[in-house]
Amino acid sequence: MAEEQFLAVAVDAAKSAGEIIRKSFYLTKNVEHKGQVDLVTETDKACEDLIFNHLRMLYPDHKFIGEETSAALGSTDDLTYDPTWIVDPLDGTTNFVHGFPFVCVSIGLTIGKIPTVGVVYNPIMNELFTAVRGKGAFLNGSPIRTSPQNELVKALMVTEIRSIRMCGSLALNMCGVACGRLDLCYEIGFGGPWDVAAGALILKEAGGFVFDPSGDEFDLMAQRMAGSNGHLKDQFIEALGDAS
Ligand code: MG
Ligand code: MG
Repeated sequence: MAEEQFLAVAVDAAKSAGEIIRKSFYLTKNVEHKGQVDLVTETDKACEDLIFNHLRMLYPDHKFIGEETSAALGSTDDLTYDPTWIVDPLDGTTNFVHGFPFVCVSIGLTIGKIPTVGVVYNPIMNELFTAVRGKGAFLNGSPIRTSPQNELVKALMVTEIRSIRMCGSLALNMCGVACGRLDLCYEIGFGGPWDVAAGALILKEAGGFVFDPSGDEFDLMAQRMAGSNGHLKDQFIEALGDAS
């Protein structure tokens, strides 16, 4: 099946990039004097190059949207109906600099604009989240489900807002809800579709909801997302409305 093949390829690419991140992660103290920004830029770019080279070799006709490529171009390509790989080669860059282990590679594939394959890999904690549309979500190969929590006051929520950091990686926040560690997450104004392309699918396939914080339908390109387990969506939208 094509989708299973895409998933296997995405996992390979994520693991190779994860190897680069892991090596640099433990080296940061030795190279601190060279300047952290350079180091991060180097690692981010090296990972995106590696992932895109890997994918382009196998799928030369596919489209590609990457955080670093978009940054270099100064714009993000529009999402088309063609198969499109949407990649954040290193989500959680500040965490990476500080040696805080919430860092990951995020690789999503949309087909007809619909998220179809998602891989989020944290190489430090060795956690691989995967999903194929309609086939469920997995953590290191075991099926995951969102939490059974149905009371908002007891829910554990995560967000990234302004400079107040929680986990520092939206992709991992969504996976946290997907596997029931968290109940809710939301973020407005994050970097781009690469932060959510894989995580949104993983969360949906684990039984959760992904939506616009206003309650409208989720738009991959809008830089606005909210996610919940299978129970709290309506209460959460109401609470977000009250808060704004
Ligand atoms: Mg990034
Ligand atoms: Mg990011």
